[in-house]
Amino acid sequence: MNASKTESRAALWLCVSTGEQSLDPQESALRALAEEQGHCVVTVYGIKRSAWSGSQDDEFVQLLKDGKDGHFTHVLVWSLDRLDRQGVLSTLKKLEQLDDAGINLVSYQERWLDQLSSVRGLLISVIAWVAQWESERRSERVKARKDDLSGRGLWPGGKPPYGYTNEEGVLVKVDEEARNVELIYSMYADQAMGQRRIEDELWRRGFKGRKGRRFHKNSIHRILNDPTYLGEHPNGVKAPIIVDKEMKSGVEARMRENRHLRPAKSKTVWPLQGMKCGVCGSRISVDSGGSRRRTYYCRGRQKDSGYHMRTGKTCTAPRLSANDIEDRLLSELTTAMRSPETFITTLDAAISRLEAQEQELATDIGPLIEEIEELNRQLIEIDRARTKGRIPSA
Ligand SMILES: [Zn+2]
Repeated sequence: MNASKTESRAALWLCVSTGEQSLDPQESALRALAEEQGHCVVTVYGIKRSAWSGSQDDEFVQLLKDGKDGHFTHVLVWSLDRLDRQGVLSTLKKLEQLDDAGINLVSYQERWLDQLSSVRGLLISVIAWVAQWESERRSERVKARKDDLSGRGLWPGGKPPYGYTNEEGVLVKVDEEARNVELIYSMYADQAMGQRRIEDELWRRGFKGRKGRRFHKNSIHRILNDPTYLGEHPNGVKAPIIVDKEMKSGVEARMRENRHLRPAKSKTVWPLQGMKCGVCGSRISVDSGGSRRRTYYCRGRQKDSGYHMRTGKTCTAPRLSANDIEDRLLSELTTAMRSPETFITTLDAAISRLEAQEQELATDIGPLIEEIEELNRQLIEIDRARTKGRIPSA
C-alpha cells in the first residue's frame, strides 16, 4: 500500500443472480480496486438473488444506514446494474440516495462516474424530474383504464373505499367499517377534532382500520374527502349511503375553515411546458384537457397571445399528443443516460447553445443598455444643474 495515499473506509457491494457463479470474482476485483484507490475495506454486502424476482432493497437500506452512521465513506460495486435491476431511473434514484447519505459510489465498470462530479448535481435533478413525470403519466394511464371500466358500469377493481366491499362489481356496505366512517365524520364535524387528533383518539379507543392496523392521518383525510359515502362513487358506481348530506356539509364547512393548514399540492411541470415554439417563438403550454388526452400547444395559436398582438397572425404549429412526444423524449433520454459519452456530448451541446443565446441576448439588449446609460447621464446633469440653482426644484 502506498503510504502517501490517505486511507478511507469502504464497503463492497457484491451481487450475483442465482444463475451465476459465486461472489468471489467480483470480490477479488473490487478488493484490488480498493487497494489501488487507497480504500480500506471494512464491510462486505453479499447478495445472491434470483434473476427475476429478487429485490435487494432491504440490504440497500442497511447500506445507507451504515454509511450515514459513518462506518464508511465509499461503496464499491461491480457495475451500476448490480445496484438495481429495475431500470435506469431506479438505479439513478439509488445514486441520489447514496449522494444524500454522503456515500461515494465507485463502479468498477463505470469509472466515468468519478469524473462526473461536476454534472452530477444536474444529472440528479434531471432524474428526479423524470421520475416524477413518469409517475404522473402512470397514474394518468391508470385513471384512463378505470374510467373505461366504470363507464361500462363495473367496479373497476382494486380496493373499494373503506366501508365497502366489492361483490362482483357491486359495492356492499361493511357494517363495522361503516360505523367507523360515521364516527370519524362526527369527530371531525361535531367535535371539531383535527385529523391528527382523530388518529390518536381512534387508536386510544381501540378502533382499528383494515388489517387491524392503526388508522393513519392520511386515510382519515381520504375518508373525509370520499364522496362515495353519499351514495355514488365518482366513477358512477352506486353505493349504499353511509354519511348523510347534512353531515357531509358539516365536514366540508370545517375543511374550508382549515384550508390554510394544509400544504399546497405541488404542481406537475410537464417536460415540454415553457419551451419555445420553433415556429413563432411563443411559449408551449399544456392542455390537460380533463378526460381528453393531454396535448401540448403553442400559446401563439391564441388571439390574446403576445405573438398575435405583435404580428396580427396566429401560429400554425399543430397541437401535439403529449404521450407520443413524451415517449420519444423519454426513450432518447434513457438512451443518453445509458451511454455517458452521448449524455455528456448532448449536455455540452446544450450548454454551448445556451451560451450562444446568452450572447445573442447581450447584443439584443446592448442598445437598450446604452440608452439607459445615456438617460442616467442626463439625470445626473439635471441633478447637478438643480443643485447649482440653475433649475428650480419642483
Ligand atoms: Zn408557435
